[in-house]
Amino acid sequence: MKAAVMYGANQPLVIEDIEVDEPQAGEVLIKTGASGVCHSDLHFMEGKWMYPTPCVLGHESAGVVEKVGPGVTNVKAGDRCVVAFVQSCGKCDRCITGRPVLCTNSQSLNRMGRIKLNGAPIMQFAGMSAFAEYQLVSANACVKMPDAVPMEVAALVGCSVMTGVGAVTNTAKIPVGSSVAVIGAGGVGLNIIQGAKLAGASRIIAVDLLENKLAAAREFGATDTVDGSKGDAVQQVQALTGGGVDFAFEAIGLMKTAQQTFEMAKRGGTAVIVGMLPLGQELTIPNAGIAFLGEKQLIGSYYGSTRQTYDMPWLMELYRQKRLKIDELISRRYKLSEINEAYEALKNGEVNRSVIVF
Ligand SMILES: [Zn+2]
Ligand SMILES: [Zn+2]
Repeated sequence: MKAAVMYGANQPLVIEDIEVDEPQAGEVLIKTGASGVCHSDLHFMEGKWMYPTPCVLGHESAGVVEKVGPGVTNVKAGDRCVVAFVQSCGKCDRCITGRPVLCTNSQSLNRMGRIKLNGAPIMQFAGMSAFAEYQLVSANACVKMPDAVPMEVAALVGCSVMTGVGAVTNTAKIPVGSSVAVIGAGGVGLNIIQGAKLAGASRIIAVDLLENKLAAAREFGATDTVDGSKGDAVQQVQALTGGGVDFAFEAIGLMKTAQQTFEMAKRGGTAVIVGMLPLGQELTIPNAGIAFLGEKQLIGSYYGSTRQTYDMPWLMELYRQKRLKIDELISRRYKLSEINEAYEALKNGEVNRSVIVF
């Protein structure tokens, strides 16, 4: 099968023929239908996060079940499904207390050696490696989808929609009427914005440096926009709200914007870090004593605290009812052979989200 192989940081991906194993117990072979071009893969391509190379990235996908291994009962050949990038064991304390996204055994469920490049085993990124024609995944990563949902839409439910909407509804659980700021109006940020709208936020302030992104933010439900290139973003948010917001979300993955997110939260407010901050760096909290006496909170959100088999079906139902915009997130469609162009467009801020269609 064809796959986009990363040989090292800051090198273009190369389309190669690779081999994929047959599914074993508890595994499913998926024929990829669509795979989203997410910023998280870019962190690895740019060397800000590390992963053993050569490897095949990609973690936002949907497809059709080709074959199932022994003991798999939740899906069967021919089923269309979203592929989640969490594989939970169902047995550890995180799993049994309802937080499968934090599964303690998740890493060990990442398979080594089940895909091969030139006969040599390579790691499967996020237990998926979605920039490939087929993916060998855990059965519990598969979430069946209704026929009415297009493949590209389901792929986006698999990462950006779940991550963004879930950060609001599952991680932060914002009360109706909350004021919200969102730094970064890309694929995840726009979903935080529409999640905040769904949750009944009163003010939703989008912060970005690009006018095309702020325009998209308004379409997705932002009530106000702040152009960070025109003066201090924190001061602008404080001026709009009389001192800060109840919830501020970081959706880029930069230390500077993470700090700004904390400063945008008012006394008693919460900063939620959704973006992948670069590895090995420290976050500074200015005047931490005052901040914490003011009961400010700083929390992380991973994959929208997903419980994929529960959350992804309701996200797709809201899409069907046109209460969640997903078609509008898809700016461009590419072939696998055009993946480097797709990442170039993402880097240049040209797109909300683009999708590789197989
Ligand atoms: Zn992603
Ligand atoms: Zn577990």
